[in-house]
Order: sequence, then C-alpha cells, then structure tokens
Amino acid sequence: MVGAALALALDSKGFSVVLLEAREPQMQWDASSHDLRVSAITRASQHLLERLGAWPAMAADRVTPYQAMQVWDNGGFGEIRFDAADIAEPNLGHIVENRVIVRALWQALTRSGVDVRTSVSVGNLHTGDDGPSLVLASGETLPVGLVVGADGARSQVRELAGIGSRSEPYDQHALVATVTAELGNRSTAWQRFMRTGPLALLPMQSDLFSIVWSTTPEEAARLRDLPPAEFNAALSEASEWRLGQLSLLGERALFPLRLQHAEQYVLPGLALVGDAAHVIHPLAGQGVNLGFLDAAALVDALVAGRGRGLSPGAMRGLRAYERARRGHNTATQLAMDAFKHVFGSRSTVVGALRNLGLGVAGRVGPLRRQFERVALGQGIDLPSLSRPPA
Ligand SMILES: Cc1cc2nc3c(=O)[nH]c(=O)nc-3n(C[C@H](O)[C@H](O)[C@H](O)COP(=O)(O)OP(=O)(O)OC[C@H]3O[C@@H](n4cnc5c(N)ncnc54)[C@H](O)[C@@H]3O)c2cc1C
Repeated sequence: MVGAALALALDSKGFSVVLLEAREPQMQWDASSHDLRVSAITRASQHLLERLGAWPAMAADRVTPYQAMQVWDNGGFGEIRFDAADIAEPNLGHIVENRVIVRALWQALTRSGVDVRTSVSVGNLHTGDDGPSLVLASGETLPVGLVVGADGARSQVRELAGIGSRSEPYDQHALVATVTAELGNRSTAWQRFMRTGPLALLPMQSDLFSIVWSTTPEEAARLRDLPPAEFNAALSEASEWRLGQLSLLGERALFPLRLQHAEQYVLPGLALVGDAAHVIHPLAGQGVNLGFLDAAALVDALVAGRGRGLSPGAMRGLRAYERARRGHNTATQLAMDAFKHVFGSRSTVVGALRNLGLGVAGRVGPLRRQFERVALGQGIDLPSLSRPPA
C-alpha cells in the first residue's frame, strides 16, 4: 500500500519511478467475500488517496465510514465515546479492506508513468556517496538515484542496507475475522480493553464487522481453533453482548504483534517508509496511516531538494524527510505502548486511574475533541499531499 502510493505520488511530481513488487497483487475476487485484512483510514490518508486518483475506485468498491468510536474497559466502568458530530465532521474515518486499497492504487498505476515490475526480487544493493546501485536477482542492474524500501516489516532493503532495528515482540497475537452482528454495526467502531489485550470491532457494511482481537499467543491459538459456535459465544461474551450475538463468517487468521523501529530511515541514496521503517501495535489502527504520511513527507522533501538542485539521494534532502517523520512515528509507537501497558495492568491502582482517565477524557470536551482529531489524522503538521484541499 505504502510503496504503491509513494510511486504514484513521485510520478505525479515528475520523478521517474520503477516499482518492484515481489508478488502479483490480487485484482479480482468474489464481491460477497471479505478480506481478513482491513485498515481504518484517516482523513489525512483519504486526502492522499484522493490526490493519487485511487479514492474514487475505492469508494465505488467498498469503504465504510464510521461516525463514532466507543471505547470501554473490562475492569470497571470507564467508558468514552468519540463522535464525528463533536468536531463537525461527517465521520471519523473509513474502514477499508486492504485488497480494495491495493487494487485501486494498482489501477491508478496503470494510468501513470511508473514502470511497474512484478515477481521480481532484489539481488544486491550498495549505498554510498557515489549513489546507490541496485542489482535484481535476474542480474539486471537498475540505474537509480534513490532506492526506497517500502517492503514491509521484514524489509530486505533495510537488511541489505545494513540498517538495524529495535524490535520487541509483544506478548500478544492478533486474531482477525469477519463477523455478523445481530444488532447491526450502528456506524460505530467498538474497542473493549481487557487485561489480555484489546478487542476491536471495525464496522463494515450494515451488519458486518472486521474484528482484531489481540490476546496472549496461547489464547489466540485456542480461539482460532474453537468450533464456530463456541467461538461465537466467546466473542459475544468478550464484547459484553453490546452488538447482540456475533457470528463468524469464514476464516480466522493470527498475526504475531511486535514493536519495531529502524535505527535510521535514511542513508545516502536510500530511504525507508511504512512498515519497513516502523511497526506498531494495531490497537489504534494507525500503521498504514503513518506509512502514508511517510510517503507524502518523502515526496515533499524530494521536491524541495530538487528545487535546491539536490539529487534525490542527497542526504540533505533525505534528512529533512527523516526529521519530518521520526518524531511523530516514535510518539505514536510510545502512545500505543503506553495504552497496551495501562490497559493490560492487573494493579487495582492503575485500574482506578484507567477508569478515571476514561471518564475524565470522555467528559472534558477539548480533550475528547483532541482524540477525535487524532483519529482523523489531524492535529499535526501534515505533508502537502495529506492536507485537506484548499
Ligand atoms: C491485525 C492487524 C491490523 C491492522 N489494522 C490496521 C488499521 O486498522 N489501520 C492501519 O493504519 N494499519 C493497520 N495495521 C497495520 C498495517 O497493516 C501495516 O502498517 C501496513 O500493511 C504496512 O504497509 P506497507 O505497505 O508499509 O507494508 P506491507 O503491507 O507489508 O507491504 C509490503 C509490500 O512489499 C512487498 N515486498 C516484500 N518484500 C519484497 C521484496 N524483497 N521485493 C519486492 N517486494 C517485496 C510485499 O509483497 C508487499 O506488497 C494492522 C496490522 C495488523 C497486523
């Protein structure tokens, strides 16, 4: 998602771009099926996708706006409701299947000048002041001024460039599935925090939810292997029956969760964006949104550098990109970490503070509105492609 968006954005600014993708993306599916991987897309990401010409195809395909977000705590009475109406917005964002985002971006790529190559892999990579050199596994050498690693958490580009990363597994796996809800989705994203991890129910269409249930690895495996009727009972119980009976539709899958941050985002002739640079806990649905902000910020830095006569791989331009993004990515990672620890604590003192915190945040208007703006991807200095239209 992030690499395709970046390729389109750079092409739109007149750069010559080659996109290398190891896999052929899925472009067709049965419309009655649902992707297990979905993303909560912020307004800032929506603006970027609109500018890249991908949003109309996504909207025509399937995106679900949500007007509210209801967050509550297992161990007490703390509860908070965020509402788009509070900040005079039509919604707090959209839930979109990842394959819908990828297909729309790839359709836009076919209309662009990007040289797209699939089923390719990188053989070797050198970086240095004399410019990067990229050799494909086929032996072909690509003459490039800048290599961008947008190849996900296990980035081969990051590894070949010798960039280390701080990486810590969370003691949690995320179980994902699509479910139907007896009471419908009420245009609300629901999140219940439990000691073992959060359960998120992301609304899709009228009575469907995509669930992300983060819990201990053992419990996640047990839930995945339960017969459907028992799983439905466990899930409905975990959601405190707020949406009535929840019933599984199709497969369940597990994702081990980890916190990861590259030690550097840039080297001469090289930059990392998206999960190749940082991986965060999915509890606030920010991962790909941070990646889209990376892409837009890198474009700003490269355009500004070109204006000053710099080559794309020049460190002066690339450092501007790293400065623009590292602080915000770190702050978001730390916030997700703090949430996970505060809500995972068994301490009664922390529990009382947690309930107090949710209660206070819910009642104090300015604080609640600030959270709502964060959910929309606002409240920070946005790169130009992510800003609202003038
Ligand atoms: C359970 C779960 C729920 C999530 N929910 C949300 C959410 O609601 N909102 C949100 O913003 N984020 C969410 N995230 C995070 C989000 O999915 C990631 O941040 C996002 O997928 C990262 O996108 P990316 O393009 O950087 O990397 P990836 O999606 O990992 O894409 C990397 C691409 O690079 C290709 N590739 C890999 N290696 C090579 C190679 N050597 N050569 C060529 N190509 C290669 C891959 O085929 C792939 O297409 C969630 C994550 C999880 C695990």
